[in-house]
Amino acid sequence: MTATGIAPTVKGWCPGALRPMESGDGLIVRLRIAAGIADPALAARIADWSRRWGNGLIDLSNRANLQMRGVARRHLPDLWDALRDAGLLDASEAGEAVRNVVCSPLAGLDPDAVLDIRPIVRALGQRLAGDTAVHTLPNKFGFAIGDGGLFGAGGAFADIRFEARRTADGPVFDIHLAGAPDWRLGPCRPAALSDVAADLATAFLRLRTGQQANLYPDEPRAMPDPPMYDGRTRPHGDRFGIRRMRDLTAAYGAEAVAQAAGLALCPSLPAKHRARPADFLGAHRLGSNAFAGVGLRFGRIGADDLAALAAAAAANGAETLRLTPWRAILVPVPSVADAHRLIAALPAGSFILDPDDPILRVAACPGAPSCRCAAAPVRDAAASLAAAVASAPGSGIVLHVSGCEKGCAHPRPAPVTLVGRDGYYDLIGDGSASAEPVLRHLTLAQAAGHIQGLAASGPRQATA
Ligand code: SF4
Repeated sequence: MTATGIAPTVKGWCPGALRPMESGDGLIVRLRIAAGIADPALAARIADWSRRWGNGLIDLSNRANLQMRGVARRHLPDLWDALRDAGLLDASEAGEAVRNVVCSPLAGLDPDAVLDIRPIVRALGQRLAGDTAVHTLPNKFGFAIGDGGLFGAGGAFADIRFEARRTADGPVFDIHLAGAPDWRLGPCRPAALSDVAADLATAFLRLRTGQQANLYPDEPRAMPDPPMYDGRTRPHGDRFGIRRMRDLTAAYGAEAVAQAAGLALCPSLPAKHRARPADFLGAHRLGSNAFAGVGLRFGRIGADDLAALAAAAAANGAETLRLTPWRAILVPVPSVADAHRLIAALPAGSFILDPDDPILRVAACPGAPSCRCAAAPVRDAAASLAAAVASAPGSGIVLHVSGCEKGCAHPRPAPVTLVGRDGYYDLIGDGSASAEPVLRHLTLAQAAGHIQGLAASGPRQATA
């Protein structure tokens, strides 16, 4: 229970366009834009819709989706008409809900990429939306596809991740399951990716219920009983107890999933380094072209700033804006000079351009008044604490400030997590927002002191 007296609700579903979610500031309408690619005209239209039918605020989620906030219920029919015209409205709620696919943000443009994954990403989205056999996947279940280039898909929150690799026989994808970092499945040919993804999703659905995977009736395998749910680590489990791939691999191991889906299992290859802000913020060369990267404070952008970004992109030769899972938007342009001109045309102070900006080390949910479960304006507190982690070594999130123990902004453990409670903060070390606090009932000033100490002593591995 939060200080507002409202318990964080576990709805078991995520907002969509067809099924918006009620929040403290109105409806949240999530737009799952295929491959995270929007042309400047579409970005400008989204900004316009946000001003007309929402509250002018848009969030970029850690799945690279755009979420219009504060949409009034009476405006939904108008918004749906506009989304339908733009090709952004799915045929069904269930199909939309499982269409969770993130990919390398520079797909199709990166000269280092193994292949252009855009058609594969779109094909997987269509397969998920149209295949009713996978519509019972938990709504947060997601896929990621990396093109093997500058930016893979390693930083994305995904249950099943495909990473492209060159071989003498042409490109293949290695498959990685959440919770099993030491193993890869496959390889999988590009043309088979949608089928393999559907097989893995089906295997997940069968295994999580304890049913024997009946994909290979000639080779029946006895599966162990499904494990009892451990409420200490996964407080939001459903009646199966297993809602994500990490839960399944923890219970059965990656081998059982590989067997159920008919895939080979091999040790993982050394991971490529994850994208860091210095890799994508500001102006960067991209082969013979370039891109500009702009960061969003806590993933939020105002409609006017989105419109300004779209206008600056169009004026400087950009054909697309690329949404990323890193609270940033990349804009491919013809040259580095164009990237600099684009950045110079943006409203001053509206975007994060400095990769060392301490805000980038802090995750914070919308908090009050946007979320009814929050007792405090979390982002103001998070912004005021950012300086305390500025000197923390490494990269990635060091501090997570959450309005409640649900921890929406950063589902992973963070070196330091503050959870608002009764107007004070509980402090958790190396854990997620639902873990046991080591310190309770701290004022913001007390919390800042503890965080500074932890940052100075070098918090443990930060996570992106
Ligand atoms: S973590 Fe934040 S956004 Fe999520 S339910 Fe709690 S207060 Fe709301």
